[in-house]
Amino acid sequence: MKVTIDRNECTSCGTCWETCPAFFEENPGDHFSKVVEKFRLNGNIAEGTAPEDLEACVNEAADLCPVSIITVET
Ligand code: SF4
Repeated sequence: MKVTIDRNECTSCGTCWETCPAFFEENPGDHFSKVVEKFRLNGNIAEGTAPEDLEACVNEAADLCPVSIITVET
């Protein structure tokens, strides 16, 4: 499952990395969300591939994001 974060619109609320810390984390530089290194696509911090066992929590984080900027594609 492909996951994209529109980081420019992130409010740093923390919901995604609290909901699914195995996939999302806070970027120390700008405090916006990023994909953890292990699951990044082409080294891009805003894009990643979620393994099957994390799909549920990534979907939950996407649903809970208050500005709806986490996009998932199956
Ligand atoms: S839930 Fe959305 S707004 Fe909040 S930190 Fe994550 S990506 Fe940013």
